[in-house]
Amino acid sequence: MNTFVDLHMHSTASDGSLPPEELVRQVKLAGLSAMALTDHDTVAGCALAAATAAAEGLDFLPGIEISCEFPRPGTMHLLGYGVDIHSPALHELTRRLIAGRTGRNARMIELLQSAGIDVTEEELLAEAGGGTVGRPHLAAILVRRGFVSSVREAFNLYLGQGGRFYVDKETTTSRQAIAMIHSAGGVAVLAHPCQLRRENHAQLMTVIKSLADQGLDGIEVIHSDHRESLIDHLSDLARRLGLLATGGSDFHGSSKPYITLGRAGRRRIPREVFDAVRQRIAKRRP
Ligand code: AMP
Ligand code: ZN
Ligand code: FE
Ligand code: FE
Repeated sequence: MNTFVDLHMHSTASDGSLPPEELVRQVKLAGLSAMALTDHDTVAGCALAAATAAAEGLDFLPGIEISCEFPRPGTMHLLGYGVDIHSPALHELTRRLIAGRTGRNARMIELLQSAGIDVTEEELLAEAGGGTVGRPHLAAILVRRGFVSSVREAFNLYLGQGGRFYVDKETTTSRQAIAMIHSAGGVAVLAHPCQLRRENHAQLMTVIKSLADQGLDGIEVIHSDHRESLIDHLSDLARRLGLLATGGSDFHGSSKPYITLGRAGRRRIPREVFDAVRQRIAKRRP
């Protein structure tokens, strides 16, 4: 059967707006046959999402999206698919990353307050509702309070890299993230390579080759931020390097209303992508 899937999305366990159960129901309503949940720095939503997916008859992979060190203006995110959500290695890393975010949130709030923008840590934690706290939560507060007119403006003026209130967050190296994902039984995929912001294809190739040397399993070829020409180039690169070619919308719900589940611009993600990832996970396991 020719169905479609989505391997990149966020729930309220990080900066998405839908709780895991509701997100899974929306995936079902969108007519997809399989999904992966990939919250920032946490697998906290995966158990509930997996149970809901089973009840809805959807195939499911637990996932995570981890921010890695990378020179500005780029950002590097790695997706881990099929990780054991109880893995001690995974929990050690996510604990460190989330502790880092706590310190970063406090510093960003200090900067905001010293500029007369009265936002508190309590308010930010309430906005995040117990999930991984990210800049989109802070952006939502700034919009609600009328300091900016949109999330986009909040990032452009204040919260984006180099913005007045931007603070770097705790990251890990790609080597460590890939090793952790593997030790948790998963496969590692480079998310949205466009966000590495390399200037040309040769530079992009250099980064991806070095990740492949570190054990990278795949690259996210189809993504809401990717133009057709980049999709073609990345498919070709994946084929040449023997990497999986994956895809996802990077759905966040209301904080990114222009992204739709199961869609990446004009593209959809064919079922074979999910099956190939699942096969690669099975091969990694003894
Ligand atoms: P953080 O994990 O706190 O660094 O925040 C990262 C999140 O902010 C990701 O979901 C990004 O997609 C989102 N983000 C980054 N830049 C922008 C932007 N210019 N507009 C909206 N969201 C953004
Ligand atoms: Zn996000
Ligand atoms: Fe990302
Ligand atoms: Fe994402």
